[in-house]
Amino acid sequence: MTKIVGLIGHPLGHSLSPLMHNAAFKELGLDFEYKLFDVSLNELAQKVKELRGKKFAGFNITIPYKEKVMELIDEVVENAKVIGAVNTIVNDNGKLIGYNTDGPGFVESLRDDAGVNPQGLNAVVLGAGGASRAILVTLAEEKANSIIVTDIDQEKASQLAQYVGSYFNVQVKSVKPDSRELQAALDNANLLINATPIGMHPHENTSPLSDKIQLAPELIVYDLVYNPYSTKLMKRSKNSVSGLGMLVRQGALAFTLWTGREAPVKLMHETAFAAL
Ligand code: NAP
Repeated sequence: MTKIVGLIGHPLGHSLSPLMHNAAFKELGLDFEYKLFDVSLNELAQKVKELRGKKFAGFNITIPYKEKVMELIDEVVENAKVIGAVNTIVNDNGKLIGYNTDGPGFVESLRDDAGVNPQGLNAVVLGAGGASRAILVTLAEEKANSIIVTDIDQEKASQLAQYVGSYFNVQVKSVKPDSRELQAALDNANLLINATPIGMHPHENTSPLSDKIQLAPELIVYDLVYNPYSTKLMKRSKNSVSGLGMLVRQGALAFTLWTGREAPVKLMHETAFAAL
């Protein structure tokens, strides 16, 4: 019986996940298929119940259900609990276990695509939404030295900084966007991460950072946006990394959780890149 996996969210748009996962299943000769399940909030509980069936190996969960789904499953692993969101579910004989592969996927991409280890780094993160939270928690777990977060909603940034600072032994604080404090943080940083949607297609000409803010030439710029592959922000640095790497790594980690096999990361990356 073909094992089914897939993506639950709403709206799903042009997800790259089916292409990259189905290419990987084919490459490894696995009888699996990745499907899209665009479900409304009213349908979510029923859909998750269906997941317990034998033919389902598990699922990915995306916006807007990464938090909501936690109350519908049986177990949530520790790092997903701390992040407060689940993006991958494994169906273990009817028992649903929730994971978060976004943060670990980001760190794997940072290591593989930028050749950088998060330990001891000074990072600045733009945006304090769901993706930012996964990244802050993972950077803290990986023993980053300091994390500065900024968001147009300053209260949101401040709350995220307080939350992560209360959990981990890391210097973490929030600053105002486009402020002198942000400039000072960037002058001291090794890594700048865009965890806002600013710069995404069809708004390629926008940037989450004003031109008034200076960036040192050696600063590594990691943009979670992957469409376009190279954003306006990334073009300000010679050391820039596209969020496609994170998308592929979070998918590869989910692939391994479902199949028990190492994912063909290079093929998944090539497939997703070709589809962009
Ligand atoms: P989100 O929950 O909407 O968070 C984005 C946050 O950034 C919001 O709080 C937003 O504030 C804030 N923001 C917007 N413009 C800003 C600016 N100029 N400066 C500072 N903060 C600003 O979204 P998310 O789920 O975290 O996702 C963020 C981005 O990451 C999206 O583009 C998503 O596609 C991408 N992503 C990529 C991957 C990957 O694998 N590469 C994985 C996850 C997410 P408001 O709400 O007030 O606008």
